[in-house]
Amino acid sequence: MKDLTQLVHRPQVDQTGFSSLSVPTHRASTIVFPSADAYTRRQAREPDGYAYGLGGTPTTRVLEAQIAALEQGERTILLPSGQAAIALLFLTVLKPGDTVLIPDTAYPPVRALCADVLAAQGIMHRIYPPLTGAGIEAFIDDSVRLIWTESPGSATMEVEDLPAIVTVARRRGILTGCDNTWATPLLFKPLAAGMDFSVEALTKYAAGHSDVLLGSVTLCERTWYVRLRAMAKVLGIGVSPDDCALVLRGIETLGVRINHIGKVSTAIAEALRTHPAVAQVLHPALPECPGHAFWKRDMTGASGVFSVALRPELDTRLDDSLAAMQVFVIGASWGGTRSLVAPMTVRGRLGGYPAGRLLRISIGLEDKDDLLCDLLDLLDRLVAS
Ligand SMILES: *Cc1c(COP(=O)(O)O)cnc(C)c1O
Repeated sequence: MKDLTQLVHRPQVDQTGFSSLSVPTHRASTIVFPSADAYTRRQAREPDGYAYGLGGTPTTRVLEAQIAALEQGERTILLPSGQAAIALLFLTVLKPGDTVLIPDTAYPPVRALCADVLAAQGIMHRIYPPLTGAGIEAFIDDSVRLIWTESPGSATMEVEDLPAIVTVARRRGILTGCDNTWATPLLFKPLAAGMDFSVEALTKYAAGHSDVLLGSVTLCERTWYVRLRAMAKVLGIGVSPDDCALVLRGIETLGVRINHIGKVSTAIAEALRTHPAVAQVLHPALPECPGHAFWKRDMTGASGVFSVALRPELDTRLDDSLAAMQVFVIGASWGGTRSLVAPMTVRGRLGGYPAGRLLRISIGLEDKDDLLCDLLDLLDRLVAS
C-alpha cells in the first residue's frame, strides 16, 4: 500500500496475551459490517448491539451493565446528564392527556420540564407533598400515568415513604420512578423496592470527581428499554465513550467514598445542631429530619449532602459570610472530592418548610476537622456580624 493509504489503514497487531484490568475506550460514529447483507439488516442489532455510534460502543455497554447489576435491573440506558435521563424517561412514558405526579421537592429543572415543555404537549403534572406516602392516593385520577419520586428531596431533604407509594401505584396500575442520586444504588435500590424506573445523576457520586456529566435510567421491563432506546435515537441523544470511561474509573471507589462521606456528613450534621445560627439541620440520619424513620427503614446508610436551615434573621448576612470560607467552595453539582456549599432559598409551593434560608452542604474527601472548623467559623461569623 502507498503511504496515504497506510496512514488510514492501520496494521493488525498481535493482541495475544494482552489482558488488562482496564476497560478500553472504544470511540465510534461509524460501525463497519462484514457484508452488504449485514449492513442492510443492521437495525436488527438494536437495541443492544452495535449499528451506529450513537447507540453506544462496548465501553458504554460495560458501564450500562455495571449500573444495571448494581440497581438489580434488567437494562440500563445512559444519557448525557441526570436531567437528560429524567427528560427522556418522561418524554417516553407520558403521552398527551397523561398526568405525572412530582414531589414539591423535585430537582427544580424537573418542575421546569413539566411546566415549560410537557404542558405545551398536553401532558399535565401535579405536585404532591414529599411526605404524603399512602396519601398519594388523593392525587390520583385516571389520567395519572407516572408517579415520580426523589428521596431525599432537593434542598429540604424529606425522605419519602416509597414503599407506601409503590403499594398504591401498583394497585392503581400506575408507573413509578425514583431519582436515586443521593442514595446511589449502594444505599437504596428502587427497583428492588418495586419501582419501575431508577434514575441516577452519575455526574454526582458515581463519577465522583466533578469533571463529567452523565445520567442513567435503569429498569426491569424490556419493552420500556426498547422504547427508551428508540426515543434517544430519534432525538439524536447518545453519550461519549470517554465520559463513560471517566465514570467507569470513578465508580470503582464509590463504595469507600460513600462509606466515608456518610460517616463524616453525619458527624458534622450532629455537631452543627446546637449552634445558635442554626434553626434546624436537615440530614436524613438525624431524627428531626422529616421522613427520618423511612430513611432508617429503607436505606442502608447516608451519603454526604444535607442542609442547614438558618435562623431567618441571619438571611441577609449569609452571602457575604460564605466568601470567607477556607475549605468549602461555593458551587452546585455535588458528589465530587471537594466539599461544596450552596446558599438556597426554599422554594416549593405547598408550605411547611423552614422559614430561613438554607445552606446546602456536600461533604467531600477533605479532613473532617478542617471541614467542621470551616463551617463553625462560618456560623460564628453569621451570628457575630
Ligand atoms: C444533579 C442532579 C440531577 C441532574 O443531574 P445532571 O447530571 O447535573 O443533569 C438530578 N437529580 C438530582 C437529585 C441531582 O442532584
